[in-house]
Amino acid sequence: MIADQRARVRLAQLHLYVDVHRNDRYVAPVLAVIAALLLSHWVPVSWALGWLVLELLIIAHYLWVYRRFKRADPPPSEERRWANRIALAHGAHMLAWSSLVVWAWQPGDFGNLMFVMLVHVGLISLTVSMSNAHLRLLWLDMTFPVLALIAPPLLEPSGFNLGLSLFGISFCALMVLVGRQINAATTEAIELRQRNEQLIQELHSQATRDALTGLINRRYLLETGTRLLQQRHRSGEPLALLIIDLDHFKRINDQHGHLGGDEVLVAVVGTCAQHVRAGDCFGRLGGEEFALVLPDTQLAQARDLAERLRSATAALAISLPGETIRPTNSVGLAMATDGDTTLSDLLRRADAAMYEAKAGGRNRVVCARPAGGSRADPVPA
Ligand code: GH3
Ligand code: MG
Ligand code: MG
Repeated sequence: MIADQRARVRLAQLHLYVDVHRNDRYVAPVLAVIAALLLSHWVPVSWALGWLVLELLIIAHYLWVYRRFKRADPPPSEERRWANRIALAHGAHMLAWSSLVVWAWQPGDFGNLMFVMLVHVGLISLTVSMSNAHLRLLWLDMTFPVLALIAPPLLEPSGFNLGLSLFGISFCALMVLVGRQINAATTEAIELRQRNEQLIQELHSQATRDALTGLINRRYLLETGTRLLQQRHRSGEPLALLIIDLDHFKRINDQHGHLGGDEVLVAVVGTCAQHVRAGDCFGRLGGEEFALVLPDTQLAQARDLAERLRSATAALAISLPGETIRPTNSVGLAMATDGDTTLSDLLRRADAAMYEAKAGGRNRVVCARPAGGSRADPVPA
Protein backbone atom coordinates (compact mmCIF):
# COMPACT_ATOMS: atom_id res chain seq x y z
CA MET A 1 0.00 0.00 0.00
CA ILE A 2 1.46 3.38 -0.93
CA ALA A 3 2.08 6.10 1.69
CA ASP A 4 -0.79 8.25 0.46
CA GLN A 5 -3.30 5.40 0.84
CA ARG A 6 -1.94 4.61 4.30
CA ALA A 7 -2.41 8.22 5.35
CA ARG A 8 -6.00 8.13 4.08
CA VAL A 9 -6.67 4.97 6.07
CA ARG A 10 -5.20 6.55 9.22
CA LEU A 11 -7.35 9.65 8.73
CA ALA A 12 -10.46 7.47 8.39
CA GLN A 13 -9.40 5.67 11.58
CA LEU A 14 -9.03 9.01 13.36
CA HIS A 15 -12.53 10.01 12.21
CA LEU A 16 -13.90 6.74 13.54
CA TYR A 17 -12.06 7.26 16.85
CA VAL A 18 -13.51 10.78 17.20
CA ASP A 19 -17.01 9.69 16.15
CA VAL A 20 -16.99 7.00 18.84
CA HIS A 21 -15.51 9.28 21.51
CA ARG A 22 -18.01 12.04 20.80
CA ASN A 23 -20.56 9.85 22.59
CA ASP A 24 -18.79 11.03 25.74
CA ARG A 25 -20.71 14.28 25.53
CA TYR A 26 -23.85 12.52 26.78
CA VAL A 27 -22.39 10.35 29.53
CA ALA A 28 -18.91 11.43 30.63
CA PRO A 29 -20.05 14.48 32.68
CA VAL A 30 -22.73 12.37 34.41
CA LEU A 31 -20.18 9.67 35.25
CA ALA A 32 -17.83 12.31 36.64
CA VAL A 33 -20.55 13.79 38.89
CA ILE A 34 -21.53 10.33 40.23
CA ALA A 35 -17.87 9.40 40.79
CA ALA A 36 -17.25 12.69 42.68
CA LEU A 37 -20.32 12.06 44.89
CA LEU A 38 -19.11 8.56 45.74
CA LEU A 39 -15.56 9.76 46.31
CA SER A 40 -16.77 12.30 48.87
CA HIS A 41 -17.41 9.24 51.17
CA TRP A 42 -13.66 8.64 51.41
CA VAL A 43 -11.87 11.88 50.58
CA PRO A 44 -12.53 15.48 51.67
CA VAL A 45 -15.42 17.05 49.73
CA SER A 46 -13.05 19.77 48.47
CA TRP A 47 -10.84 17.10 46.84
CA ALA A 48 -13.78 15.41 45.18
CA LEU A 49 -15.16 18.77 44.05
CA GLY A 50 -11.78 19.94 42.76
CA TRP A 51 -11.39 16.72 40.78
CA LEU A 52 -14.91 17.10 39.37
CA VAL A 53 -14.33 20.68 38.21
CA LEU A 54 -11.01 19.72 36.62
CA GLU A 55 -12.51 16.68 34.92
CA LEU A 56 -15.49 18.66 33.57
CA LEU A 57 -13.06 21.21 32.11
CA ILE A 58 -10.99 18.40 30.55
CA ILE A 59 -14.14 16.84 29.04
CA ALA A 60 -15.24 20.20 27.63
CA HIS A 61 -11.77 20.69 26.15
CA TYR A 62 -11.47 17.36 24.40
CA LEU A 63 -15.03 17.58 23.08
CA TRP A 64 -14.10 21.01 21.71
CA VAL A 65 -10.99 19.53 20.02
CA TYR A 66 -13.14 16.78 18.46
CA ARG A 67 -15.58 19.40 17.16
CA ARG A 68 -12.76 21.43 15.65
CA PHE A 69 -11.36 18.29 14.01
CA LYS A 70 -14.73 17.40 12.45
CA ARG A 71 -15.24 20.96 11.25
CA ALA A 72 -11.71 21.28 9.86
CA ASP A 73 -12.11 17.98 7.99
CA PRO A 74 -8.31 17.98 7.49
CA PRO A 75 -6.48 16.31 4.60
CA PRO A 76 -4.60 13.04 5.22
CA SER A 77 -1.30 14.95 5.46
CA GLU A 78 -2.52 16.58 8.71
CA GLU A 79 -3.63 13.33 10.36
CA ARG A 80 -0.59 13.06 12.63
CA ARG A 81 -0.87 16.64 13.90
CA TRP A 82 -4.56 16.14 14.76
CA ALA A 83 -3.91 12.73 16.33
CA ASN A 84 -1.30 14.34 18.62
CA ARG A 85 -3.68 17.13 19.57
CA ILE A 86 -6.43 14.64 20.33
CA ALA A 87 -4.01 12.39 22.26
CA LEU A 88 -3.08 15.31 24.52
CA ALA A 89 -6.67 16.46 25.08
CA HIS A 90 -8.01 12.95 25.75
CA GLY A 91 -4.83 11.88 27.59
CA ALA A 92 -5.62 14.49 30.28
CA HIS A 93 -8.97 12.73 30.80
CA MET A 94 -7.23 9.35 31.13
CA LEU A 95 -4.78 10.85 33.64
CA ALA A 96 -7.59 12.40 35.70
CA TRP A 97 -9.44 9.08 36.05
CA SER A 98 -6.30 6.99 36.54
CA SER A 99 -5.16 9.34 39.31
CA LEU A 100 -8.07 8.08 41.47
CA VAL A 101 -6.06 4.92 42.13
CA VAL A 102 -3.44 7.10 43.86
CA TRP A 103 -5.18 9.92 45.72
CA ALA A 104 -8.56 8.28 46.37
CA TRP A 105 -7.03 4.91 47.38
CA GLN A 106 -7.90 4.12 51.04
CA PRO A 107 -5.75 1.18 52.10
CA GLY A 108 -7.75 -1.26 54.17
CA ASP A 109 -11.19 0.11 53.19
CA PHE A 110 -12.72 -2.70 51.18
CA GLY A 111 -15.59 -0.60 49.76
CA ASN A 112 -13.18 2.04 48.55
CA LEU A 113 -10.88 -0.62 47.12
CA MET A 114 -13.69 -2.17 45.13
CA PHE A 115 -14.91 1.23 43.91
CA VAL A 116 -11.48 2.38 42.75
CA MET A 117 -10.72 -0.92 41.04
CA LEU A 118 -14.17 -0.98 39.44
CA VAL A 119 -13.57 2.50 38.06
CA HIS A 120 -10.21 1.40 36.83
CA VAL A 121 -11.19 -1.84 35.16
CA GLY A 122 -14.17 -0.01 33.65
CA LEU A 123 -11.81 2.67 32.37
CA ILE A 124 -9.59 0.08 30.69
CA SER A 125 -12.55 -1.71 29.10
CA LEU A 126 -14.06 1.52 27.86
CA THR A 127 -10.75 2.74 26.49
CA VAL A 128 -10.15 -0.43 24.51
CA SER A 129 -13.68 -0.56 23.18
CA MET A 130 -13.75 3.14 22.28
CA SER A 131 -10.16 3.77 21.12
CA ASN A 132 -9.39 0.64 19.08
CA ALA A 133 -10.14 2.39 15.79
CA HIS A 134 -6.75 4.11 15.94
CA LEU A 135 -3.94 1.94 17.36
CA ARG A 136 -1.53 4.79 18.18
CA LEU A 137 -4.22 6.60 20.16
CA LEU A 138 -5.20 3.33 21.82
CA TRP A 139 -1.63 2.88 23.12
CA LEU A 140 -1.47 6.50 24.30
CA ASP A 141 -4.90 6.27 25.97
CA MET A 142 -3.80 3.10 27.78
CA THR A 143 -0.58 4.60 29.17
CA PHE A 144 -1.97 6.15 32.37
CA PRO A 145 -4.46 3.37 33.22
CA VAL A 146 -1.67 0.77 32.88
CA LEU A 147 0.77 2.82 35.00
CA ALA A 148 -1.92 3.27 37.64
CA LEU A 149 -2.38 -0.52 37.85
CA ILE A 150 0.91 -0.86 39.68
CA ALA A 151 -0.10 1.78 42.27
CA PRO A 152 -2.03 -0.47 44.77
CA PRO A 153 0.90 -2.75 45.76
CA LEU A 154 3.21 0.27 45.85
CA LEU A 155 0.85 2.25 48.12
CA GLU A 156 0.12 -0.71 50.40
CA PRO A 157 2.35 -3.72 49.81
CA SER A 158 0.25 -6.81 50.41
CA GLY A 159 -0.47 -10.08 48.68
CA PHE A 160 -4.07 -9.00 48.05
CA ASN A 161 -3.05 -5.71 46.43
CA LEU A 162 -0.42 -7.46 44.34
CA GLY A 163 -3.14 -9.90 43.27
CA LEU A 164 -5.40 -6.99 42.35
CA SER A 165 -2.62 -5.47 40.32
CA LEU A 166 -1.89 -8.73 38.48
CA PHE A 167 -5.58 -9.22 37.89
CA GLY A 168 -5.81 -5.73 36.36
CA ILE A 169 -2.72 -6.25 34.17
CA SER A 170 -4.00 -9.62 32.87
CA PHE A 171 -7.39 -8.09 32.20
CA CYS A 172 -5.67 -5.25 30.39
CA ALA A 173 -3.60 -7.65 28.25
CA LEU A 174 -6.74 -9.55 27.22
CA MET A 175 -8.55 -6.34 26.34
CA VAL A 176 -5.60 -5.13 24.25
CA LEU A 177 -5.52 -8.43 22.32
CA VAL A 178 -9.23 -8.08 21.59
CA GLY A 179 -8.78 -4.38 20.71
CA ARG A 180 -6.05 -5.20 18.18
CA GLN A 181 -8.27 -7.77 16.51
CA ILE A 182 -11.15 -5.33 16.26
CA ASN A 183 -8.71 -2.76 14.88
CA ALA A 184 -7.50 -5.19 12.19
CA ALA A 185 -11.10 -5.88 11.15
CA THR A 186 -12.11 -2.20 11.00
CA THR A 187 -8.90 -1.29 9.14
CA GLU A 188 -9.69 -3.94 6.54
CA ALA A 189 -13.22 -2.56 6.22
CA ILE A 190 -11.88 0.99 5.82
CA GLU A 191 -9.37 -0.14 3.18
CA LEU A 192 -12.08 -1.99 1.30
CA ARG A 193 -14.42 0.99 1.44
CA GLN A 194 -11.72 3.37 0.19
CA ARG A 195 -10.73 0.98 -2.60
CA ASN A 196 -14.39 0.70 -3.62
CA GLU A 197 -14.80 4.48 -3.65
CA GLN A 198 -11.69 4.74 -5.82
CA LEU A 199 -12.97 2.07 -8.20
CA ILE A 200 -16.36 3.76 -8.45
CA GLN A 201 -14.60 7.04 -9.26
CA GLU A 202 -12.46 5.34 -11.90
CA LEU A 203 -15.50 3.62 -13.40
CA HIS A 204 -17.44 6.87 -13.40
CA SER A 205 -14.54 8.62 -15.10
CA GLN A 206 -14.20 5.84 -17.67
CA ALA A 207 -17.93 5.90 -18.33
CA THR A 208 -18.16 9.69 -18.67
CA ARG A 209 -14.75 10.85 -19.99
CA ASP A 210 -13.11 10.65 -23.35
CA ALA A 211 -9.77 8.90 -22.92
CA LEU A 212 -7.84 10.99 -25.47
CA THR A 213 -8.87 14.55 -24.65
CA GLY A 214 -10.11 14.15 -21.07
CA LEU A 215 -13.34 15.95 -22.03
CA ILE A 216 -16.70 14.43 -21.15
CA ASN A 217 -17.80 11.86 -23.70
CA ARG A 218 -20.76 11.95 -26.07
CA ARG A 219 -23.18 10.08 -23.81
CA TYR A 220 -22.50 12.24 -20.76
CA LEU A 221 -22.49 15.38 -22.91
CA LEU A 222 -25.94 14.56 -24.29
CA GLU A 223 -27.24 13.70 -20.82
CA THR A 224 -25.91 16.92 -19.28
CA GLY A 225 -26.99 19.00 -22.28
CA THR A 226 -30.53 17.59 -22.00
CA ARG A 227 -30.63 18.48 -18.30
CA LEU A 228 -29.40 22.01 -18.99
CA LEU A 229 -31.97 22.47 -21.78
CA GLN A 230 -34.78 21.34 -19.43
CA GLN A 231 -33.52 23.81 -16.82
CA ARG A 232 -33.56 26.51 -19.49
CA HIS A 233 -37.20 25.70 -20.28
CA ARG A 234 -38.08 26.01 -16.60
CA SER A 235 -36.06 29.15 -15.78
CA GLY A 236 -36.29 30.95 -19.12
CA GLU A 237 -32.58 31.80 -18.91
CA PRO A 238 -30.84 31.86 -22.30
CA LEU A 239 -28.83 28.79 -23.32
CA ALA A 240 -26.41 28.51 -26.23
CA LEU A 241 -24.91 25.52 -27.98
CA LEU A 242 -21.74 25.51 -30.04
CA ILE A 243 -20.61 22.73 -32.35
CA ILE A 244 -16.92 22.93 -33.14
CA ASP A 245 -15.42 20.86 -35.95
CA LEU A 246 -11.77 20.87 -36.95
CA ASP A 247 -11.18 21.78 -40.56
CA HIS A 248 -9.56 19.36 -43.00
CA PHE A 249 -8.57 17.11 -40.15
CA LYS A 250 -8.44 14.09 -42.40
CA ARG A 251 -5.51 15.71 -44.23
CA ILE A 252 -3.57 15.99 -40.97
CA ASN A 253 -4.22 12.32 -40.28
CA ASP A 254 -3.26 11.37 -43.82
CA GLN A 255 0.03 13.25 -43.61
CA HIS A 256 1.04 12.57 -40.01
CA GLY A 257 -0.82 9.44 -39.11
CA HIS A 258 -3.36 9.04 -36.32
CA LEU A 259 -0.84 9.80 -33.59
CA GLY A 260 -0.02 13.15 -35.18
CA GLY A 261 -3.76 13.82 -35.54
CA ASP A 262 -4.28 12.92 -31.88
CA GLU A 263 -1.61 15.43 -30.88
CA VAL A 264 -3.42 18.17 -32.79
CA LEU A 265 -6.78 17.20 -31.24
CA VAL A 266 -5.32 17.37 -27.73
CA ALA A 267 -3.66 20.73 -28.40
CA VAL A 268 -6.86 22.28 -29.82
CA VAL A 269 -8.99 20.97 -26.94
CA GLY A 270 -6.41 22.26 -24.41
CA THR A 271 -6.56 25.71 -25.96
CA CYS A 272 -10.36 25.82 -26.20
CA ALA A 273 -10.77 24.52 -22.63
CA GLN A 274 -8.95 27.60 -21.33
CA HIS A 275 -11.87 29.76 -22.53
CA VAL A 276 -14.61 27.61 -21.03
CA ARG A 277 -16.19 28.77 -17.76
CA ALA A 278 -16.98 26.54 -14.80
CA GLY A 279 -20.60 25.46 -15.32
CA ASP A 280 -20.24 25.26 -19.12
CA CYS A 281 -20.40 21.79 -20.52
CA PHE A 282 -17.64 20.97 -23.02
CA GLY A 283 -17.49 17.49 -24.52
CA ARG A 284 -16.44 15.40 -27.48
CA LEU A 285 -19.30 14.49 -29.77
CA GLY A 286 -17.08 12.12 -31.71
CA GLY A 287 -14.01 12.22 -34.00
CA GLU A 288 -12.87 15.84 -34.43
CA GLU A 289 -16.22 17.28 -33.44
CA PHE A 290 -16.97 18.90 -30.09
CA ALA A 291 -19.95 20.57 -28.46
CA LEU A 292 -20.09 23.28 -25.85
CA VAL A 293 -23.34 23.92 -23.96
CA LEU A 294 -23.43 27.39 -22.38
CA PRO A 295 -26.14 27.84 -19.75
CA ASP A 296 -27.25 31.34 -18.81
CA THR A 297 -25.56 32.84 -21.88
CA GLN A 298 -26.90 35.48 -24.29
CA LEU A 299 -26.33 35.33 -28.04
CA ALA A 300 -23.71 38.12 -27.99
CA GLN A 301 -21.68 36.39 -25.23
CA ALA A 302 -21.90 33.02 -27.00
CA ARG A 303 -20.84 34.58 -30.28
CA ASP A 304 -17.85 36.27 -28.56
CA LEU A 305 -16.81 33.01 -26.98
CA ALA A 306 -17.17 31.10 -30.28
CA GLU A 307 -15.04 33.74 -31.97
CA ARG A 308 -12.41 33.43 -29.20
CA LEU A 309 -12.34 29.65 -29.62
CA ARG A 310 -11.95 30.02 -33.36
CA SER A 311 -9.17 32.63 -33.17
CA ALA A 312 -7.30 30.83 -30.37
CA THR A 313 -7.31 27.64 -32.46
CA ALA A 314 -6.19 29.51 -35.58
CA ALA A 315 -3.32 31.04 -33.60
CA LEU A 316 -1.93 27.61 -32.69
CA ALA A 317 1.27 26.34 -34.30
CA ILE A 318 1.80 22.64 -33.61
CA SER A 319 5.15 21.16 -34.59
CA LEU A 320 4.84 17.73 -36.14
CA PRO A 321 7.72 15.97 -37.92
CA GLY A 322 8.45 17.94 -41.11
CA GLU A 323 5.62 20.42 -40.73
CA THR A 324 4.10 23.00 -38.43
CA ILE A 325 0.36 22.50 -38.33
CA ARG A 326 -1.87 25.55 -38.03
CA PRO A 327 -5.28 24.05 -37.28
CA THR A 328 -8.55 25.88 -37.74
CA ASN A 329 -12.09 25.04 -36.81
CA SER A 330 -15.59 25.89 -37.94
CA VAL A 331 -18.17 26.70 -35.32
CA GLY A 332 -21.96 26.48 -35.50
CA LEU A 333 -23.88 28.36 -32.81
CA ALA A 334 -27.55 27.96 -31.91
CA MET A 335 -29.56 29.62 -29.15
CA ALA A 336 -32.13 27.39 -27.46
CA THR A 337 -35.74 28.38 -28.15
CA ASP A 338 -39.05 27.12 -26.82
CA GLY A 339 -39.30 25.20 -30.11
CA ASP A 340 -36.29 23.02 -29.13
CA THR A 341 -38.20 20.36 -27.27
CA THR A 342 -35.22 18.01 -27.22
CA LEU A 343 -31.46 18.51 -27.31
CA SER A 344 -31.45 16.89 -30.79
CA ASP A 345 -33.51 19.83 -32.14
CA LEU A 346 -30.93 22.27 -30.86
CA LEU A 347 -28.00 20.12 -32.02
CA ARG A 348 -29.51 19.85 -35.48
CA ARG A 349 -29.66 23.64 -35.86
CA ALA A 350 -26.12 24.14 -34.50
CA ASP A 351 -24.90 21.38 -36.83
CA ALA A 352 -26.55 23.03 -39.83
CA ALA A 353 -24.87 26.32 -38.89
CA MET A 354 -21.54 24.52 -38.60
CA TYR A 355 -21.99 23.05 -42.10
CA GLU A 356 -22.74 26.56 -43.37
CA ALA A 357 -19.44 27.67 -41.85
CA LYS A 358 -17.73 24.85 -43.76
CA ALA A 359 -19.50 25.80 -46.96
CA GLY A 360 -18.61 29.44 -46.40
CA GLY A 361 -14.89 28.66 -46.46
CA ARG A 362 -14.22 27.18 -42.96
CA ASN A 363 -12.36 28.85 -40.04
CA ARG A 364 -15.48 30.84 -39.15
CA VAL A 365 -18.45 31.04 -36.79
CA VAL A 366 -22.04 30.88 -38.05
CA CYS A 367 -25.08 31.54 -35.88
CA ALA A 368 -28.21 29.53 -36.59
CA ARG A 369 -31.47 31.36 -37.03
CA PRO A 370 -34.02 30.57 -34.31
CA ALA A 371 -36.26 27.58 -35.06
CA GLY A 372 -38.46 28.53 -38.01
CA GLY A 373 -35.97 31.21 -39.23
CA SER A 374 -34.91 31.10 -42.87
CA ARG A 375 -31.13 31.43 -42.94
CA ALA A 376 -28.11 31.15 -40.73
CA ASP A 377 -26.24 34.30 -39.81
CA PRO A 378 -22.53 34.14 -40.66
CA VAL A 379 -19.93 35.91 -38.57
CA PRO A 380 -17.03 36.69 -40.89
CA ALA A 381 -13.64 35.31 -39.90
P1 GH3 B 1 -13.96 19.09 -42.72
O1 GH3 B 1 -13.14 20.31 -42.81
O2 GH3 B 1 -15.04 19.07 -43.76
O3 GH3 B 1 -14.50 18.85 -41.38
O4 GH3 B 1 -13.02 17.90 -43.13
P2 GH3 B 1 -12.39 16.85 -42.17
O5 GH3 B 1 -11.27 16.18 -42.88
O6 GH3 B 1 -12.07 17.45 -40.85
O7 GH3 B 1 -13.60 15.86 -41.89
P3 GH3 B 1 -13.80 14.36 -42.14
O8 GH3 B 1 -15.10 14.00 -41.47
O9 GH3 B 1 -13.67 13.99 -43.59
O10 GH3 B 1 -12.60 13.64 -41.36
C1 GH3 B 1 -12.53 13.58 -40.02
C2 GH3 B 1 -11.39 12.67 -39.67
O11 GH3 B 1 -11.16 12.61 -38.30
C3 GH3 B 1 -11.61 11.26 -40.13
C4 GH3 B 1 -11.22 10.40 -38.95
O12 GH3 B 1 -10.29 9.40 -39.31
C5 GH3 B 1 -10.55 11.38 -38.02
N1 GH3 B 1 -10.67 11.00 -36.64
C6 GH3 B 1 -11.79 10.70 -35.96
N2 GH3 B 1 -11.51 10.45 -34.66
C7 GH3 B 1 -10.17 10.57 -34.55
C8 GH3 B 1 -9.26 10.42 -33.46
O13 GH3 B 1 -9.62 10.12 -32.29
N3 GH3 B 1 -7.94 10.62 -33.70
C9 GH3 B 1 -7.51 10.96 -34.95
N4 GH3 B 1 -6.21 11.16 -35.11
N5 GH3 B 1 -8.34 11.10 -35.96
C10 GH3 B 1 -9.65 10.91 -35.79
MG1 MG C 1 -13.68 18.21 -39.68
MG1 MG D 1 -16.44 16.19 -38.51
